[in-house]
Amino acid sequence: MTDICSLSLAAVADALQKKEISAAEAARACLDRIAGTEPKISALLRVDGENALARARALDKSGPDASMPLFGVPVTVKDAICTRGLATTAASRMLEGFRPVFDAFAVEKLRAAGAVILGKNNMDEFAMGSTTENSAFQTTRNPWNTGKVPGGSSGGSAASVTAGQCFASLGSDTGGSIRQPASLCGCVGLKPTYGRVSRYGLIAYGSSLDQIGPLARSVADCARVFEVIAGHDRRDATSDPRPAGGYVAALGGGTLKGARLGLPREFFGEGASAEVRDACAAALRAAEGLGAELVEVGLPHTRAAVATYYIIAMAEASSNLARFDGVRYGRRAEGARDLEELYARSRSEGFGTEVKRRIMLGAYVLSAGYYDAYYRKAAQARRLIRDEYLAALDRCDVICAPVSPETAWDMGTHNADPLRMYLMDAYTLSLNLAGLPGLALPVGKGAESGMPVGMQLIGRAFGEADLLAYGHALERALPGIGLPAL
Ligand code: GLN
Repeated sequence: MTDICSLSLAAVADALQKKEISAAEAARACLDRIAGTEPKISALLRVDGENALARARALDKSGPDASMPLFGVPVTVKDAICTRGLATTAASRMLEGFRPVFDAFAVEKLRAAGAVILGKNNMDEFAMGSTTENSAFQTTRNPWNTGKVPGGSSGGSAASVTAGQCFASLGSDTGGSIRQPASLCGCVGLKPTYGRVSRYGLIAYGSSLDQIGPLARSVADCARVFEVIAGHDRRDATSDPRPAGGYVAALGGGTLKGARLGLPREFFGEGASAEVRDACAAALRAAEGLGAELVEVGLPHTRAAVATYYIIAMAEASSNLARFDGVRYGRRAEGARDLEELYARSRSEGFGTEVKRRIMLGAYVLSAGYYDAYYRKAAQARRLIRDEYLAALDRCDVICAPVSPETAWDMGTHNADPLRMYLMDAYTLSLNLAGLPGLALPVGKGAESGMPVGMQLIGRAFGEADLLAYGHALERALPGIGLPAL
């Protein structure tokens, strides 16, 4: 029998519908794969094996159902996304032992579509980080080379998908946290347009930036999951009411012939390493070979993006994380003598270093004396960045850019220098500031490092169908990078 875990999501979903394999078999195959690979990559904080198998058996009993597009498909979920009855910690001691009494909207949708949730993925604490090294509990490793980081903050999701532990995962992207780990691990990740997927049940980091989205091993597989989770939800006030869907159907019509691909000068300059530029250039040549036209576009305010993003993200984080005070939410310190001490001790014990750094900086940029100098300026710069993107997208159909300036780096490399780490997000975070969708897909391996290189396609607001169609066409034109031997 072929190895179930190396099938595509599309193939396994099809086989499940046709009863060629049972949901219990699919779940067991993935759980076995988890048992075999977890000691090497540590992508999961929690495996919910028994419940997953019970759910799979119940699905087998009721039988396949064509209205359930993910019938019996094993998936994993980033630990920032609430799963009913299954602990959800955002990889923070602050939330250790928290068992949500509700599912996030995207998780409700996955379950209704028949997916089987195997467990919760490791991540940077409260999604703050670019390597998954900021988790309070464990460090995830890159499946291609376990001495290297998987990227972050959804590093557990990307590693899990790439290692064949599941067929897809849900991640969240505030400044690159779906696209960057997908790129560093060599899988596909979609950051949807702001408002396309409900944030209901996502533990908030930067609320005006956060979006939930899928990671999978191909563009087509990503489209299938996105089709399920996109849509309006009245429990998220920023959820967009326009109808969603048609993403899988759009793949068939995907062609690069005549497509205008915008190349922002600012993303292909000295900032990116030679091997990243070369791999992207080769993919763009392949696109040209299929009839795409390359046009240069300018996004000059990119130089302000890192500063703008970190001011806004930290400001929002300091406000969002104020609720974790040991009284209303979160871990409560023992033995405090008064309320002040209870707050201080609970927060000191519960939060890790990076989270504390961001709360302090966020409170600073919002403080009365500095608000105008930092937060207001950042909000203004954000508008300029968005306007530039919209102007660039008037001149092309989709913007193409590297995801990360470097391929996956050695663990521990940039940890002593937070600013250097923040600069690694230069290519991803401006998209969140602009609210636009981005699809990251592997385009090759670095000539020097041998590690995956990702490129992102950036589209118009609510243009995910086009983005996925272009991505699908590009993916088929490339040789593919295969799967890591683990
Ligand atoms: N690395 C970025 C940060 O630390 C982005 C994280 C994210 O998208 N959640 O803020």
